[in-house]
Amino acid sequence: MSKLNTSAENLIGERLCLDFANTVSWHNSDTPKEWLINYEKLVEWSRYADILSSPQQMSLLEKANHHPDQAAKVLEEAIELREAIFCLFRSIAAGLETDSLDRAILNKYLTRAYSLAEIIPEESTYTLSFQKGENELDYMLWPIVQSAIDLLLSEKLDRVKQCEGEPCGWLFYDSSRNKSRRWCSMADCGNREKARRHYKKKSDPK
Ligand SMILES: [Zn+2]
Repeated sequence: MSKLNTSAENLIGERLCLDFANTVSWHNSDTPKEWLINYEKLVEWSRYADILSSPQQMSLLEKANHHPDQAAKVLEEAIELREAIFCLFRSIAAGLETDSLDRAILNKYLTRAYSLAEIIPEESTYTLSFQKGENELDYMLWPIVQSAIDLLLSEKLDRVKQCEGEPCGWLFYDSSRNKSRRWCSMADCGNREKARRHYKKKSDPK
């Protein structure tokens, strides 16, 4: 898989919905960096996150070429959905109540996702498929919605965390055994925070 050349290529969230929430860098700052700057980027990220196959990617891009207004609308919706997911899980990570407006947005997309959903058998289990909407420009949104619902309904919400690096803002699911993960990545925010503390200690000796 080719790289995206954006920091959104770092799928560090451990859950699809959280990786999607992380398609903005420095989400907690006054100058967030948006990675989904057009529909093509949304498709590119979706392929990278393995929501779309290569042929699906090609066919959605071709369709978007013929229907630029529809594609622009889908991008708007994707960002509305992403911000609702971000705000919901940021509140959860902080131990705060979730906002009813964010829940309403997720509910709106849940209704649409379920109108397309089908149960299909897969080896010895069953899976939810959104294949009915495969040819629609918004096809990538439904697995993301499903991921958000799965996580919200799980009993492991205490594992949803926000990176402690300021002003990173990225969300992740902490699957470490002792729930000790604190950073999006040690190489990035972890080291920066360590360096910051080290510098503070040196310049502020007690
Ligand atoms: Zn971080």
